[in-house]
Amino acid sequence: MRLRHKPWAKEKIANYPQYVIQNPEQYNGNWKELFENNNPVHIEVGTGKGRFVTEMAKANPDINYIGIELQESVIVAALDRLIEAELPNVKLLNTNGEDLQKFFGKADVDRIYLNFSDPWPKNRHEKRRLTHESFLRIYEEILKNNGEIHFKTDNRGLFEYSLVSFSEYGLGLKYVSLDLHKSDFEGNIMTEYEEKFSAKGHPIYRCEVIYS
Ligand code: SAM
Repeated sequence: MRLRHKPWAKEKIANYPQYVIQNPEQYNGNWKELFENNNPVHIEVGTGKGRFVTEMAKANPDINYIGIELQESVIVAALDRLIEAELPNVKLLNTNGEDLQKFFGKADVDRIYLNFSDPWPKNRHEKRRLTHESFLRIYEEILKNNGEIHFKTDNRGLFEYSLVSFSEYGLGLKYVSLDLHKSDFEGNIMTEYEEKFSAKGHPIYRCEVIYS
């Protein structure tokens, strides 16, 4: 994602602790306290400007969504969406997906969305890919039994890499699509990147992965 430095971003994030959770460690094992219900928790790692989590939260009020984004200057755009939408079932964490185990206990999470994750095409950056084995291990620690990853990307190289990574990790795959927008999948919510790349004619690859 192209970054424009926003020196005010840190202060703005700090001013909205009801949307960008300031000390997420305190909810490890107890997100129901924050959401004040027992609804399933779905997280998106690399949420970007937040359209996906916000629209999903509107469409599914009985699911709690948490968008996780590393970059302050990007997450402020997601924060603006939340301020406008005033949804009780979506929160943001300004943190690195590498640290998920600090914030989520075993079985805290029902589903993980990875949408248009950075492809990191160079071999020396392989460990940064959100579908690298080291991330799959982290996801295993926080997902419920039969929890799922829903993954979509326009990047064919990343998709191929990820299918192999899921499979080598012993995970089950379902609903693999090589052209999501021409498939019979219903209820797709387009992310910002998805809109941009599908407008350029890129097919969107998608799959669901099960931890059982
Ligand atoms: N999901 C959004 C979409 O589809 O429009 C954004 C896609 S953008 C290509 C990838 C985003 O993931 C960037 O905003 C980046 O900062 C974030 N990101 C990359 N690695 C991350 C990590 N380890 N933890 C949290 N966010 C990460």
